Amino acid sequence: MAYWGKRVAVGLLVLVTVVGCGDTKPTAGVVSGTPQTRAPGGPIRTVRPTLAPVRARPGASANVKLMPVLDHGPRDRKQVALTFDADLTALMRRRLVSGKVRSYYNKPLIDELQAMHVPATMFLTGMWMEQYPDVTRQLAKDPLFELGTHTHDHRGFTKHCYTLGTVPKQDMLADVRRAIVELDQFDPHATRWFRFPGGCYDATALHELAPAGVTAVGLDVPGADGFAKSPQPVIKQVLDHVQNGSIVVLHMHGGDNAPYTAQAVGPIVRELRARGYKLVTVTQLVSK
Ligand SMILES: [Zn+2]
Repeated sequence: MAYWGKRVAVGLLVLVTVVGCGDTKPTAGVVSGTPQTRAPGGPIRTVRPTLAPVRARPGASANVKLMPVLDHGPRDRKQVALTFDADLTALMRRRLVSGKVRSYYNKPLIDELQAMHVPATMFLTGMWMEQYPDVTRQLAKDPLFELGTHTHDHRGFTKHCYTLGTVPKQDMLADVRRAIVELDQFDPHATRWFRFPGGCYDATALHELAPAGVTAVGLDVPGADGFAKSPQPVIKQVLDHVQNGSIVVLHMHGGDNAPYTAQAVGPIVRELRARGYKLVTVTQLVSK
């Protein structure tokens, strides 16, 4: 489900050191701390998680490994990454099965992105891949797009993540790894980008998930397309807040949860290009 519009960034107490994605593909180079397998000269970077007030644990040191978090790209390049989450929860699947919702695949949105040649990064839940295996393969084959994971069933990784429920701490790593395995079955070029459902995480989640070898991709522009009543507020929200290096969160499940994303994306893309922004994937955003 789409909750980003309600999200409020708060002050932060901890810097997360990016120590590499555990992925030997060259795609995530700039966030890697292992330059021999990444873009040459890729520095170790520090990035700030921006949702929860992350508190260092007692006795925690700078050596404690945390999942890295990326909220935006370089501010000195006129590039923007549009990202699209494909949620599917148990509740959403029941709505599909009962016929209350016809589809949680927003095909018109994908058609629009392809027609306008818009590179984009998609974050897929495992349940969504199960529901739409052929579409997942098609997306994986399209050179415009790159795919990352969004957990198996879109539960939250903090105690109070809207109404998403909570993955128990002891299950967090297995849940994320399950989604990675699921994506790899469909996409031989799957990235090691990951997005937290609802944008909810804290230091415990980042610590538990460090061994997963993925980098959390946050955002600096919530697209507010979740439960939108028309395209206009979505267009205005994105265009009012976008800047160099922005990561914009929108959704590709459509249905009753994100009904106007396809109508909003055309005006957004045209205006961003008119302002001189190059639209890129997250990997391109952080690549040298
Ligand atoms: Zn989501």
